[in-house]
Amino acid sequence: MKHVEKSRQKYTESQAYLAGGVASSLRSAMKPTPLFAASGTGPRITDVDGNTYIDYLFAYGPLILGHAHEATTESVHAAMKRGVTFGLQHEGEIELARRLTEILPCADKVALSGSGTEAVMLALRLARAFTGKRKIVRFHGHYHGWSDAIFTAFPSSDMRQSSSAAATQEQRLLPGTSGQSELALEDIILLPWNDSAVLEATLREYKDDIAAVISEPVMCNSGCVLPKSGYLEHMQDLTQELNMVMILDEVITGFRLGLSGAHGKFGLEPDLITIGKALGGGVAISAVAGRKDIMALIENGTVSHLGTLNGNCVATSAALATIAELSKEDGTIYHEMENNATHLVEGIRSLLAKHGIPGIVNHVGPVFHMMFTHEPAVEDFASFTKRDGAKYADFAGKMLEEGVLVRSNGLWYLSATHGAQEIEETLKAVDRALVNL
Ligand code: PMP
Repeated sequence: MKHVEKSRQKYTESQAYLAGGVASSLRSAMKPTPLFAASGTGPRITDVDGNTYIDYLFAYGPLILGHAHEATTESVHAAMKRGVTFGLQHEGEIELARRLTEILPCADKVALSGSGTEAVMLALRLARAFTGKRKIVRFHGHYHGWSDAIFTAFPSSDMRQSSSAAATQEQRLLPGTSGQSELALEDIILLPWNDSAVLEATLREYKDDIAAVISEPVMCNSGCVLPKSGYLEHMQDLTQELNMVMILDEVITGFRLGLSGAHGKFGLEPDLITIGKALGGGVAISAVAGRKDIMALIENGTVSHLGTLNGNCVATSAALATIAELSKEDGTIYHEMENNATHLVEGIRSLLAKHGIPGIVNHVGPVFHMMFTHEPAVEDFASFTKRDGAKYADFAGKMLEEGVLVRSNGLWYLSATHGAQEIEETLKAVDRALVNL
């Protein structure tokens, strides 16, 4: 067993002062104990007990350039020396906003915030103000942050997905947490994703009430499921026809599937997108980007967009340095990440076959979801919920013993620093961890 005594002690100590002992609720679930990090370099992270792991949890996604990336770190140091934040405008904001409008096909203008949750809040507000309507369509298995307005519990596997607009209206939405105003969810319509017929029926039936449809372009939060051919295009056509705002939540996919995000990769024209995570390479920053006439509501004062630390110098310099690095040699870094991820995914699939363990690995760019399941495919939320989560958590525990840190829900992130060496070591670890699972 790995020695994690110091982490255990620190967790006990932290519980005395920090509510729950962690700074974000998900982190307390880690077994055998929430680990305390001491440092990270490239693809590896070291805990306070001195154990080093190949990291695929990767801070839940932002560290696309790896831990302690030199150029990003230097640029942040330099920004801090000039002054962290001013509450005045500074040139870094213009530079970043200009760069984002160059890179992101849908971006006429951008607005900067601190987290994905805030970016989604702003996008929903813009959509309601722009259309003068209230309801928001969102999908089972997608995650859009933890604000009252959108945070719903993931239904359990036995909760049937509604398959008609009427059933959807009757279903009671479960708040994501106690303490959340249930009224806040009154305006949410929750639909199964990847089902064009249900989408069309619902949007047509409630066309006078629906302000926006918000969707992850790839269902990364539940199985890394790709959109069915034509599905997002259909969503785009319907929202255009029915005067609704199409919001693609690219907090995971933005700067991860490519510089132009999933909408660029798939050739889509959403009205608004939200980005975060990889944008700042680990520093807190997010943005809403989109159509001039919608973003104009911020310019003319119709929609408030606030935040003391919005666009601070550390965040903009981290984002600019990250983008500069990702843009080098026409973005070849993405080909390398994708090749490495493909190599790893194919290796894991063969190992599952070798050990006779039924499982699926859904993969898009440098992110993939590994699931133990008897389903022939995971193509929607219903099939995703049939995976054996407990078995995967055991596997994650065994991987930790092998020196590989993976998230206990099955989502793996690669960075530009995961190379052949890490992948070979990881596959050996998977081979051992699958024995007697
Ligand atoms: N949208 C998506 C698609 C996400 O995956 C997340 C975070 N996992 C968020 C929004 C919320 O971002 P944050 O945690 O930065 O508030």
